[in-house]
Amino acid sequence: MSPIRVLASELIDQIAAGEVIERPASVVKELVENSLDAGARRIEIDVQQGGIGLVRVRDDGSGVPAHELPLALARHATSKIASLDDLQSVMTLGFRGEALPSIASVSRFRLASRTEGSDHGVELLAEGGTVMPPRPSPQPRGTTVEVRDLFFNVPARRKFVRSDATEIGHIARLTERLALSRADVAFRLRHADRLLLDAPAEPGASAEERVRAVLGDEFLTNAIPVEHSAGAISLRGWIGLPTAARAQADEQFWFVNGRSVRDRLLMNAVRLAYRDVLYHGRFPAYVLYLDLDPRGVDVNAHPSKLEVRFRDSRPVHDFVMHTLERILAATKPDASARPPVAAHPAGVEYPREQALLGLAGHAAPPAAPGLWKLAAEQLAVRETDAACGVLALRGLGTDLPGSGSPAQPTPLGTAVGQIHGVYIVAQSHEGLVLVDMHAAHERVLYERLKAQSAAAGIPSQHLLQPLVLDVKPHELDALLERRAEWERAGFEIDAFGPSQVAVRRVPALAVGRDIAQLVRSVLVDLDLGASAHHLDEAADRFLGTLACRTAIRAHRRLTLPEMDALLRQMETTDRTNQCNHGRPTWTRLTLPELDQLFLRGR
Ligand code: ADP
Ligand code: MG
Repeated sequence: MSPIRVLASELIDQIAAGEVIERPASVVKELVENSLDAGARRIEIDVQQGGIGLVRVRDDGSGVPAHELPLALARHATSKIASLDDLQSVMTLGFRGEALPSIASVSRFRLASRTEGSDHGVELLAEGGTVMPPRPSPQPRGTTVEVRDLFFNVPARRKFVRSDATEIGHIARLTERLALSRADVAFRLRHADRLLLDAPAEPGASAEERVRAVLGDEFLTNAIPVEHSAGAISLRGWIGLPTAARAQADEQFWFVNGRSVRDRLLMNAVRLAYRDVLYHGRFPAYVLYLDLDPRGVDVNAHPSKLEVRFRDSRPVHDFVMHTLERILAATKPDASARPPVAAHPAGVEYPREQALLGLAGHAAPPAAPGLWKLAAEQLAVRETDAACGVLALRGLGTDLPGSGSPAQPTPLGTAVGQIHGVYIVAQSHEGLVLVDMHAAHERVLYERLKAQSAAAGIPSQHLLQPLVLDVKPHELDALLERRAEWERAGFEIDAFGPSQVAVRRVPALAVGRDIAQLVRSVLVDLDLGASAHHLDEAADRFLGTLACRTAIRAHRRLTLPEMDALLRQMETTDRTNQCNHGRPTWTRLTLPELDQLFLRGR
C-alpha cells in the first residue's frame, strides 16, 4: 500500500463530479437551476450531439459580479447559504456550491457574466478543471455557461453516455419538468438548431397555459383541476381522469416548493387515492404542486435532490391522499357532465418523449381511432368479463327519486332502449348517451356495498333452508381463512364436513338469485387474486368481486324503467364514470356532433 496522501484538487473535483454529473442532462439541470436561482425570466438551452458536444445555457438573471467570478468555480463556494439555519429554510434550488467546479473539471468550460450595474462582461475559461484568469468579454446582462466535450478527460464516464437520441430524450424530459416548475419563466430548448420546446412566459400567463405548452391540450382535456389548502400546506395542479390513465408512468410530475421531485411518499399517496378507480397496470397522469413551510422539508436528503424528506411525513401523505380521493369520488355523471371517454377521442396516447419531439418536429401523432373502433375495443374487453356478473339484475328498483319525468334535465337523460344486450341508449338534453350497463351497475353496487359496510353493515337475510355446497378441500380452507370478509359482506357460511359448506345467510342483494353459483364464482375470483385486470389495490377487493358477480350480465333484458333507474343511480353514486375495472361506463354524442356526422347545417 502507498502512504496516505491528500488528493490533488482537480481529482477531488472529478470525484465529486461523479456524484452530481451523471450524464449531459445533469449539466442542463445544474445550469438551469443556477439560472432560476439568479432570478432569470428567460432561459435558453442549446444542445449539440446529445449534450456531449455542447450544452449552452443563457439567462437574463442577476449575473456574477466580476470579482466573484473565480469563486464560482471554487468548491463549496456558494452565494445561497451561509449557515445551518439558512440550510434549514433554503428556498433556492442550489446550495452546495459543487456543481460548477464539478462540471468544469470534466469538460471544456466557459462562463461569461455581467451584472446590472457593470458596463462590460467578464468571462472565465477552464479545461479539465484548470481555470484560466478572467478576462473581459462582450456579454448582455445575465450569464452564459458553455460546456463542451463533456467527460473528454474521464473516459470511464464517457463510456456510460448513450446515443444522442437517448441523451436528448433525458434532456427534453428534464426541461419539461423545469418548465412546469416555473410558469413565470420562459424556456426554450434547441438541439442541433431544432426547436424542441418553446414555452414563452407572457406577463399574466397562467400555469394552465404553461401546462398546455408542455403537455399539450390532450392532458388538460382529460384532467381535473386540484386546488386545496389546509393551514400552511397547499396542493394545486391537475390530475388525469382515471379513464385517461396511461400505459406508462410518463406524465407524472411532482413539485415541492417549486422543486421537481420523484418522491416515493408522494407517489404512493397518489396511487392510494386512485386505488378504487384505476385499472391494474395503468398510470394516472398528473401535474401537482405541493407548497409548505420550507422548514418542514429537508431538500438535502438526497445527492441529486430528487427526493425530499418531510419532517412530519404522515400528515403530508394523508393530506395529499385525502384531497385527491375526494376529487376522484366526484367522477360521476353530474351537472357539469363530461363523459369519461370522448366519443371522438382527440388522439391516442403516445409516449411523452415522442409527444415532445412531435411538438417540435411536426411529426403527426398516430391516427385517432373513431367511435366505432373504440366501441369494438370495449366489446373485446367485455369478453374477458364474460364470466363476470352471472347473476340477474338486483337492486334496480324503479321507485327511485329522479326516475319518471324529472324536473331537471338529467345528465344521462332517458333510456330509449338497449342494444346488443350490452349498451343502454338514452336521449339526454345534449344528445345521445351510451351506457355500458354491466360496467355501470357493477360500480353502483360496489359503491353501495362499501357505504353499507361502513355504516350499519351490509343487509343480509337468513335462508329458510341452509344451502349445502360441494367444494374442494383447498377452497374450503381459502373460504374459512377469509371468513371475516364473507361475514362482513353479509354471508354466513360454515364448514359442513371436509368438502362441503353450508350457506346460512346471504347479502340481501343476492336473495332470489342462484346463490350456489354466486358463492362459487366469488370463491374462484378470490382464488385468482380477484382477476388480473381488476382494480389496482381496490379499497375492498372482496366487495368489488361480489359487486362484479352480482351486477346485471350482458344479454339480460331490462325494462325502460329499470334502465332509467340505473341511469339515475349512476348520477347519484360516486365514481360511476368508471367501472370497477377502471374503464369508462358511458359516453355521449352531442347534437352538434351528431349533426356533424350527417353534414347537417353546412
Ligand atoms: P450552488 O448553486 O450550489 O450555489 P454552483 O456551483 O452551482 O453552486 O454555483 C456556484 C455559485 O455561482 C452560485 O452560488 C452563484 O452565486 C453563482 N452562479 C452560478 N450560476 C449562476 C448564474 N447563472 N447566474 C448568477 N450566478 C450564478
Ligand atoms: Mg447550482
